[in-house]
Amino acid sequence: YDTERLRKSDAAHILHPASVVADVSNNGPARIFVEGKGAFITDTEGKKMLDGVGGLWCMNIGYGRTEIGDAMKAASDQMGYFHTFAGASNPAQIELAEKLIAKMPDHITKVFFGSSGSDANDTLMKIVWYYNGLRGKPEKRKIIARRQAYHGTTIATASLTGLASFHRNFGLPIPEVKHTSLPHYYREAGFNESEEEFSTRLARELEELILAEGPETVGAFIAEPIMGAGGVITPPKGYFAAVQAILKKHDILFICDEVVCGYGRTGHWFGHQLYDIRPDMIATAKGLTSGYFPMSAAFISDDIWKVLRDGSATLGAFAHGFTYSGHPVGSAVALANLAIIEGENLVANSAQTGAYLHAQLNDTFGNHAHIGEIRGVGLLGALQLMADRDTKTGFDLKHKIAARCAVAIGNHGVIVRPLPTADSLAFSPPLTLTLSEADQMVDAIKKGINQVMGELNA
Ligand code: PLP
Repeated sequence: YDTERLRKSDAAHILHPASVVADVSNNGPARIFVEGKGAFITDTEGKKMLDGVGGLWCMNIGYGRTEIGDAMKAASDQMGYFHTFAGASNPAQIELAEKLIAKMPDHITKVFFGSSGSDANDTLMKIVWYYNGLRGKPEKRKIIARRQAYHGTTIATASLTGLASFHRNFGLPIPEVKHTSLPHYYREAGFNESEEEFSTRLARELEELILAEGPETVGAFIAEPIMGAGGVITPPKGYFAAVQAILKKHDILFICDEVVCGYGRTGHWFGHQLYDIRPDMIATAKGLTSGYFPMSAAFISDDIWKVLRDGSATLGAFAHGFTYSGHPVGSAVALANLAIIEGENLVANSAQTGAYLHAQLNDTFGNHAHIGEIRGVGLLGALQLMADRDTKTGFDLKHKIAARCAVAIGNHGVIVRPLPTADSLAFSPPLTLTLSEADQMVDAIKKGINQVMGELNA
C-alpha cells in the first residue's frame, strides 16, 4: 500500500463521521486499516492492534470470519436483492425473524428490519406516533431520553442523543424530545444517598418532567439497559423498576435501545435480561451482523402490533420502510453471525472472559489514584478517570485526558474508546476474546494510563 497517497486522498475527499466533534485521538492523518483476524486489526504499515472496542461496539464474532463471506456470496449469487415492501418477502429474513423473535420475551412478537441503529430508533419513534394516532391520542408524541445517552445521528435520533455536541450547530433537539437525569450513581448521587434513594429520586424527577410536559403529550421513554457511549453506565439498584412503574402509571411506552447491549455483549443475549426490564419496543443493530453488513432489527410488542393491525385498516397504512429493509444478503449474514455466536458459545464467553477482565482490572486499578470506578458487565466496560479519587474530583474536560490515555494505550497495541463527556475509557472487544488477550488489554491500559498520569504529575 502507498500509505501516503491513500492518506492524502482520504484527507482530500472524505468527510469523516464525527470529525468536527473529534477529540485528540481522532485528529491527525487517518490510519488506514486493511485486514483483521479475531480480535486484531492491521493497518497499511503492518501495525497490528488488539481492537478492544470491536470496531464501534459491534464486532462480536471477531474479524475475518470467512463463514460470513461464504454466506454473503451465496445469498448474493442466488439473488442479491429484492425489496420486502408489502406483498414481498424472502426466506432469509423470514428465518431470521423466527430466530430473533424466539430469543425475545414472549410479548415481543414482530420485527422490522432496517440498516442502522439510528434507523431502528427512528422507526420506533414513528411507531410510537403512529400507534398513538391510531389509538386516538395523536398528541402523545414526546419521547424522553436521558442526558449523555447516545441513540443515533439522524435528525430524530440525534435529538434523543443527550450530548450537546450532537445538538449544537444543528438546531436540535426537535421539540418532541426531552431529556431526564443520567443514572450515574458514582458521579451524580448526593452525599450519603444510597443507590435505592438515588433511583427513587431519578424516577421522581422523571415523573416531574412527565407532569410538567403533560402525560397526555408523552409517548415513550428510551433507555439502554447499560448506557454505552454515554459512559458504560450500569443502572443503580432499583432504577428500572422505579422508572417502569412511572411509565406504566402514565401510559408511556418503554423503548429499550439494545444497539450496544444486544447479541451477547453483556454475557446475556440481551441487556434487558439483566435488569428485569419489560420493554414495549426494542432496537438492535451492531452485533446483529457483527458489523459485516449494515443491518438493524426493531421489535414491538403484541399489544402494539394489534393496534397497528386493527387501526391501519381504517386509518391508513404503516407508510414506513427502507429500500434495504429485510435485505436477503444482510439477513443471510445475520443468520451466519448468530450461528457463530451460538456454535462457539460466545455469550457464555462474554460472561466468563468479561468476569476475568473485570477482575484483572479491579486488581490493577482498584486502588489507583486516578481511577474512580470500574464499570460494566460481560465484555462491556469502562474506567472512570479522576483527577483525585479520594476527593472525587474529576479532570477538567478541556484537558482531554481520556483521549490522551487512549492514544497512549494505542501506542501499547490496544484500542480503547475515549468517552470525552464521561471522561472514561470504554472497551467492548470481540466476544471471542481469550484470557491472554484480556491480559494484553489490561497490560496496555495500565502502561498507557500510568504514562499519561506520570506526565501530568511530573
Ligand atoms: N443506539 C446506541 C445505543 C448506539 O450506541 C448507537 C451507535 O453507536 C446507535 C443507537 C446508532 O447506531 P448507528 O450508528 O448504527 O446508526
